[in-house]
Amino acid sequence: MSFIVAIDGTAGSGKGTMANAIANDLGFISIDTGATYRCVALASIRENIPYEDKEGIIKLLDRIEIDIQGDNLNPIFLLNGEDVSKEIRSAEVTKIVSQVSCIPEVRLKLVELQRKLAIGKNVVMDGRDIGTYVFPNADVKIYLDATEEVRAKRRWEENQEKGINMTYEETLENIRMRDKQDKEKEIGALKKADDAIVIDTTDLSIEEVKEKIEKIVKSKYVVK
Ligand code: C5P
Repeated sequence: MSFIVAIDGTAGSGKGTMANAIANDLGFISIDTGATYRCVALASIRENIPYEDKEGIIKLLDRIEIDIQGDNLNPIFLLNGEDVSKEIRSAEVTKIVSQVSCIPEVRLKLVELQRKLAIGKNVVMDGRDIGTYVFPNADVKIYLDATEEVRAKRRWEENQEKGINMTYEETLENIRMRDKQDKEKEIGALKKADDAIVIDTTDLSIEEVKEKIEKIVKSKYVVK
């Protein structure tokens, strides 16, 4: 049996932080689906395939294997066996990942992988289309949002700590661009599932958001 918590929402709304923290508290596994799209984007950069070359990226899919290891608080993303956890957060990847993830074949391959990773497990999965497309029957669906400025500030601070070179203005512009593209996607567009619970995290601390989500999960999760 498997219990699925889907956390969707806009870029920088806190999905990843929440998924990791909640999974860790509840003994679930956390799956960051954005990281899987980032792995494909990184592979395309390494092979000099521009995102406009859709055929090239589709062929690239046959040459890459993505896996997640490590633990909830320190997940390790493997691209053909190599740890790329740090590189997938780079400014270069962040600038093109949304365009790469618009390619339907990329989505189909990664959705298949995401569903496979969750088989038989209790999972907190975060992304854009988890509650609407990857797991439309998820047990709990959360949709996180916050103002663009707050999201950009959080992401910029996080990037500073990680040594990722993007100004606040670039971060804000990137967040706006990704949200727009993510909402307009042909398959798996970012949108709130009808039965998702919306949490606006603008004025909430990490702890407050975590408490709210855990309360919802605990009200539905029965140990099987
Ligand atoms: O979550 P993160 O910001 O790392 O995701 C990177 C990009 O991957 C997003 O901007 C979005 O374009 C894409 N993505 C997606 N579907 C998901 C998760 C991420 O299209 N389920």
